[in-house]
Amino acid sequence: MKSETLEALREAVRGPVIGPEDSGYDDARKVYNGMIDKRPGAVVRCSDVADVMSAVRTVREQGLELAVRGGGHSGPGLGIVDGGVTVDLAPMRWVRVDPGARTAQVGGGGLQADLDHATHAFGLAVPSGTVSTTGLGGLTLGGGHGYLTRKYGLTLDSLLAADVVLADGSFVTVDEKNHPELFWALRGGGGNFGVVTSFTYRLHPVSTVGVGITVWPAERTREVLGWYREFLPRQREDLYGFFAVLNVPPRPPFPDEIHGRKMCGVVWCWTGEPDRLSEALAAVQEPGKPAFHFAAPMPYPELQSMFDELLPPGLQWYWRGHFFDRIPDAALDAHLTYAEGLPDGLSTMHLYPVDGAAHRVGSGDTAWSYRDALWSGVFAGIDPDPANAQTIKEWSVAYWEALRPYSMGGGYVNFIGEGEGEDRVRATYRENYDRLARIKREYDPDNVFHTNQNVRPADVA
Ligand code: FAD
Repeated sequence: MKSETLEALREAVRGPVIGPEDSGYDDARKVYNGMIDKRPGAVVRCSDVADVMSAVRTVREQGLELAVRGGGHSGPGLGIVDGGVTVDLAPMRWVRVDPGARTAQVGGGGLQADLDHATHAFGLAVPSGTVSTTGLGGLTLGGGHGYLTRKYGLTLDSLLAADVVLADGSFVTVDEKNHPELFWALRGGGGNFGVVTSFTYRLHPVSTVGVGITVWPAERTREVLGWYREFLPRQREDLYGFFAVLNVPPRPPFPDEIHGRKMCGVVWCWTGEPDRLSEALAAVQEPGKPAFHFAAPMPYPELQSMFDELLPPGLQWYWRGHFFDRIPDAALDAHLTYAEGLPDGLSTMHLYPVDGAAHRVGSGDTAWSYRDALWSGVFAGIDPDPANAQTIKEWSVAYWEALRPYSMGGGYVNFIGEGEGEDRVRATYRENYDRLARIKREYDPDNVFHTNQNVRPADVA
């Protein structure tokens, strides 16, 4: 990038603009996934909405590539772009809670942990993902599923309004009444439509929750998953549990004798009556005696951050996803094969429930079209050592391929892996794709926001 361009950016914004010659450059270009090694021309740390507006205008005037970074957790590293400008929202992590109205407004760079911390003080929460260092930006715009999804829906189902800087650098506030089509598109359409500088969420009463972890040896995956697929969808929406295959991490609460063992298991969250947690989880004995079972009450933010330390920034990640509305017996066999063949380390497969309250919203009511899915599956290769990058990627892709015949034909937009291509984005949105493309044509006809799972502007009729 030319020095005059960097100068123009520095003049345009108040926050720091970090270029390749600056001392903080290597830190500024890092994203959560250590496999991503991109070299942007500049990282613009935006301090407020005015900075975002100026940065977007300058990027357009100079004809540069643009990326928008919320929490930086995208698997394919979509928060950063080679040679272009990253609009980094990390300084914008403020939260304002209105306990009377039961709403919270969060800056566009806010993390789940920021929101959980602020709302927990009032016994309130927004459904979000299962690792609290994740950015609310990418999470909300793509969907957002986690422990509260069966009870209160996706993160985007709690979105009431958003402040957005559009492709021409102008600013709008969108909700059900103002720019309703754009509001529809933001709820699932990813970062395609603008830079969201704040999100306003509806809050739900959640304070202490019941938490459980149950694991069984990996060789029992067939029986355990066969039981889980029948059990969970029939339970009250107060019970949530995501299924996982994993190597047991060498840390509490797991006992020493199972550390490093290949297992399958379920992580539970109970939002029902506090004294009925044991009763809600009594059925875990049904598929055979677990190797370990733990259940206890926990403040909700503690559950949300339970896996943060296990998954620090900088690990190697490669993931892909599928939606499922059934888990037939043949799929159980495939899960058993890949659970037993799990690479050592942190790689995992999760099946996140997306039924319950998430099913009470229609497939066309927001851009998130898979309201008939029961599970959102992720096949995640994870390892600290770059030398293992190829191995974990191959495991993830092979497992994903093996489950493809039993999937619904698309996957969660936030679980699309590097190199999956445009058809996969279409498959994610199904019948909502064409409407998204028309809204894209209206709000971003030149496709300025394309460093994302891109929806191209519809052709002019
Ligand atoms: P970024 O990399 O910053 O951004 C991702 C995309 O969103 C980019 O295209 C970016 O341009 C866009 N974007 C981000 N912020 C904004 C904004 N304010 N305005 C406009 N565009 C923006 N997902 C779940 O649903 N449930 C989970 O339980 C879950 N667990 C996860 C655990 C881990 C450890 C990780 C790494 C990811 C997990 N995810 C989960 C996936 C997660 O939702 C996505 O990776 C999401 O994109 C992260 O958002 P981010 O803002 O941190 O990412």
